[in-house]
Amino acid sequence: MLKRFFSYYKPYKKLFILDFSCAVFVGILELAFPIAVNEVIDRLLPMENWTVISLACLGLLAIYLLNTGLQYIVTFWGHKLGINIETDVRRKLFGHMQKLSFSYYDENKTGHSISRLTKDLEEIGEVAHHGPEDVFVAIMTLLGAFGIMLTINWKLAVLSFIVIPFLMICAIHFNKKMTKTFRKMFSDVGDINARVEDSIGGIRVVKAFANEEHEQKRFEVNNERYRQTKLQSYKIMAQNIMANYMLMRIVTLFTLLFGTLFVIKGQLTYGEFVAFLLLSNILIGPIQKINAVIESYPKGIAGFKRYTEIMDTHPDIVDSEHAKDMTVKGEIRYEKVAFRYKNMERVLNGLTLSIKEGETVAFVGPSGAGKTTLCSLLPRFYEIEEGKITIDGVDIRDFTLQSLRSQIGIVQQDVFLFSGTIRENLSYGKLDATDEEIEEAARKAQLSDFISTQPDGLDTIIGERGVKLSGGQKQRLAIARIFLKNPPILILDEATSALDTETEVAIQQALNELSKGRTTLVIAHRLATIKNADRIMVVTKNGITEQGTHDRLLGEKGIYSRLHQAQFG
Ligand code: ADP
Ligand code: MG
Repeated sequence: MLKRFFSYYKPYKKLFILDFSCAVFVGILELAFPIAVNEVIDRLLPMENWTVISLACLGLLAIYLLNTGLQYIVTFWGHKLGINIETDVRRKLFGHMQKLSFSYYDENKTGHSISRLTKDLEEIGEVAHHGPEDVFVAIMTLLGAFGIMLTINWKLAVLSFIVIPFLMICAIHFNKKMTKTFRKMFSDVGDINARVEDSIGGIRVVKAFANEEHEQKRFEVNNERYRQTKLQSYKIMAQNIMANYMLMRIVTLFTLLFGTLFVIKGQLTYGEFVAFLLLSNILIGPIQKINAVIESYPKGIAGFKRYTEIMDTHPDIVDSEHAKDMTVKGEIRYEKVAFRYKNMERVLNGLTLSIKEGETVAFVGPSGAGKTTLCSLLPRFYEIEEGKITIDGVDIRDFTLQSLRSQIGIVQQDVFLFSGTIRENLSYGKLDATDEEIEEAARKAQLSDFISTQPDGLDTIIGERGVKLSGGQKQRLAIARIFLKNPPILILDEATSALDTETEVAIQQALNELSKGRTTLVIAHRLATIKNADRIMVVTKNGITEQGTHDRLLGEKGIYSRLHQAQFG
């Protein structure tokens, strides 16, 4: 874990060395004062020459000035190191999250992903900067102080330092406890984010059911849990501070008690005695630093662990070694395809079908039969268990994901639009689309009239997920997006099911236009919309049980004719 953590320092070696060495200097220079005081009291004071003492103070001033400059470097450049590492980690995490497969997002909540990208990483940056540097400098200062004390009077030094091992044990003990608590705290924050994502994201449903109070109660559970965990962490922190304070005061008391004894016995000068007291006070600094690290280190490491957890989750679906970018024409074949979602029963069990280039095939069948699933296997949103799927005779696993997915267009029932403008959403289909291309796509999707009535035209803001649009307008936007993408293969999954009949007719025209010259897989709930398909396939739990033209299937008096009977009487 630590090795992995330190690998993030690599690009910033110079920055790290600069910051680290400055911090070391600051630590060393801090020890100058007690030594100076010792010299002044024992050697310069008896000379009773104020000029010499003033000169000595001037020398000390120079040291302090130097130290002031160094402190700036340590604070600013050190934090720069931290924030750089944090930014790197965040970039990598976001990139990795983009790559994770559908199966990951089926299981994990968005809120958790958000808190991993924000709160967790902040702590990582803090530790990246303070962790190694502060611990090293603190230990060095402690050793330095101990060294000086040893040379002055080893017996007193040992007596003063007797407490240090206890401080160390204390540190290790609390560190362990904190790591555990902070891990829990991060997961609690994730829960809160997930709750907010759900309740605020679904605010329209919440209000429609007048369930605000219910949501409040559910939120309160998470909020309270977070409070408890945080309280726990403060408790541990307080215990840690308490233990440290007491131990540190014992150091001072020991020094005072035995120091005076040595002075009385004539084994210690006044100057040495004062220096000892000052040194034992200087110890507080490093010990506090170590304490601060003990407090922040578990946070950073807990955050880092959560980070590595995601980084170690490999996307289920990646390019195979010999994957190539290829242009497809659109002939599709499923051969004995078996598929199941993670830990579920099989949805498809040896499904075989073939679709000719440019053909429009409609899938009908009972809800839950696997129509959507079957279509989502073509762009490799999920990996099949057995069998194979080919396009133009080439296994889809031999395409790069980029080239495979860029040649399949999907229009679904619930359209997802990004918050932003109409233009931004349209050009999602082709990021470098020109204005002319965008306008043409809008026209083909019968969206032009709507756009021209908008105050800002293409630059009209459509609200989060397109809340400012009607169902039909959203659907047309989704269709225009695919016109821009211009893929040879098209999947229409209940694209018109959510619309009223009038809108449906208008959109059907746009869809017919869209499917021209493309291999099209249509899933439709309403049979009227697929009458003109080249072929209709009936999907059931047992695979494709009937297929043929509308008229032929009606004649067969099977499931299709029964469905037709039910819808049209
Ligand atoms: P259809 O589109 O024919 O109505 P689906 O392909 O959506 O059916 O679903 C087929 C089966 O797979 C259903 O039993 C459904 O519950 C299940 N299913 C669909 N999506 C998922 C998923 N992401 N994870 C687990 N099970 C799923
Ligand atoms: Mg479906």
